[in-house]
Amino acid sequence: MVDRQFLLSPKQMPRKWYNIAADIGPTPPPLNPATQQPCGPQDLAAIFPDPIIMQEVSTDKWIDIPEEVLDILAMWRPTPLYRATRLEAALGTPAKIYYKYEGTSPAGSHKPNTAIAQAYYNKISGVKRLATETGAGQWGCALSLATQMFGLECTVYMVKVSYQQKPYRKSLINAWGANIFASPSENTSYGRKVLAEDPDCPGSLGIAISEAIEDTVTSKDTKYALGSVSNHVLLHQTIIGQEAKLQMEMAGAYPDVVIGCVGGGSNFAGIAFPYLEDKMSGKSPNLRAVAVEPKSCASLSTGEYRYDFGDTAQMTPLFMMYTLGCEFVPPSIHAGGLRYHGMAPLVSLAFHKKLIEAMSYPQTAIFPAAVLFARTEGIVPAPESSHAIKCAIDEALAAKETGEPKTILFNLSGHGHFDMGAYDMYFSGKMTDAG
Ligand SMILES: *Cc1c(COP(=O)(O)O)cnc(C)c1O
Repeated sequence: MVDRQFLLSPKQMPRKWYNIAADIGPTPPPLNPATQQPCGPQDLAAIFPDPIIMQEVSTDKWIDIPEEVLDILAMWRPTPLYRATRLEAALGTPAKIYYKYEGTSPAGSHKPNTAIAQAYYNKISGVKRLATETGAGQWGCALSLATQMFGLECTVYMVKVSYQQKPYRKSLINAWGANIFASPSENTSYGRKVLAEDPDCPGSLGIAISEAIEDTVTSKDTKYALGSVSNHVLLHQTIIGQEAKLQMEMAGAYPDVVIGCVGGGSNFAGIAFPYLEDKMSGKSPNLRAVAVEPKSCASLSTGEYRYDFGDTAQMTPLFMMYTLGCEFVPPSIHAGGLRYHGMAPLVSLAFHKKLIEAMSYPQTAIFPAAVLFARTEGIVPAPESSHAIKCAIDEALAAKETGEPKTILFNLSGHGHFDMGAYDMYFSGKMTDAG
């Protein structure tokens, strides 16, 4: 019997986050849209607490993870690393496929890794309530869990179509004690304005961000929290790749290729950045890292590298990133967590410097991969994560062609237990590439 599970004890959990900003070279700063000058910390002070702003601009290579954060993360971390022996056998590949599984968190994805850290820093800064937006509901779940752990209040603006289509994500957010509004809502003046113009507006991530920011800046003791894209979010996710490195050592393996799906870029950064440290230092110059996007919203593969707003209402600073344009409205594909017009500035810079590659697939190609994975490895993957599975399968099939015993590592960012509606649509043959 070959070893399938590579498990660490809580004592082996990494104690520091890895900050790629220390190694990757100068990063183009965000700009204040009014002045076109680089944003100073004061530009962010209205929405983030000081410790988060310091991490956002830090170039220290290693940043200590507070004990209080480790304590909560240890409720489910370290997460398991598995070798996908049954998937390998089904493919008949000489490649070895490993995956890091982040679906064991209470919210079912990697997002609590940063939600817990953000709730902690807000708590010690005297903040009483966090406001945020959520698209598919994964981030709203993670933040409501995290605020509950630290005794903070939480308000979530959930895109109205998802609120209606994914009622159980909403119930989960309620179970963890957050207040939730379908966005556009009557709770903000921006929401009321949108509703006055179009009472049936289905909402969008851009509108929900605008509502959450308005709620933040017009309320006392309230700050805003972001689930992806920002430097501090990517930093918090690097615990994934650091654990994976220890676990791959236990397996006596080192990856030739590291794969992650990308929406805003945080879980990909989490698994890949600690390996890019090896690549940049010359320890593994040939290591490949592949970011996988949906074909209909492929910012790295088809976007431009330029300054753009993070949201549709153009309220955020300008970020240097690969973007499809802040007015781009992605089709309503089932991997809701990958529907974002831009890409994290640090992932964008890594792509611009050719440190990483990008790939994209239509959703009709990723569901067969998801189902093959469920039928071999047992875990029903989130549609988002299935983009990484599809790419890992294609790498393994390419290795079969060449007979190369390649080592593949991918991040399984979450389970798909709240996405069974999408699976139903696939099984009934009604799924198209448009939605
Ligand atoms: C949110 C989400 C993603 C996409 O976000 P990233 O910041 O790109 O990681 C991917 N997978 C799952 C399960 C998610 O919830």
